[in-house]
Amino acid sequence: MSETTCRCPACQSPFQGKTTCPDCGADLTPLMTAMGRAFYLRCQARQALGQGHYQTARRLAAQAQRLHRTFRGESLCSVAAIAQAVNVDPGL
Ligand SMILES: [Zn+2]
Repeated sequence: MSETTCRCPACQSPFQGKTTCPDCGADLTPLMTAMGRAFYLRCQARQALGQGHYQTARRLAAQAQRLHRTFRGESLCSVAAIAQAVNVDPGL
């Protein structure tokens, strides 16, 4: 499944950018809200990584994954964990 393909949790119908499922009519607002929050947290995590705040980056990336799990989000978690473990110099 593509990372950009979102599926309705009730009927598994694909949807994109809609607050109501086009097939079953389920309210997708809570799901869209969680996905938006996860996106915001990943942006914050990337910013924290760039500033050398690895523990914060790792926490934010993990929080995002709990809201909306993605492959790229998992990669971000791994990068933050590695950066924290080896204490990468953010100036490099
Ligand atoms: Zn549906």
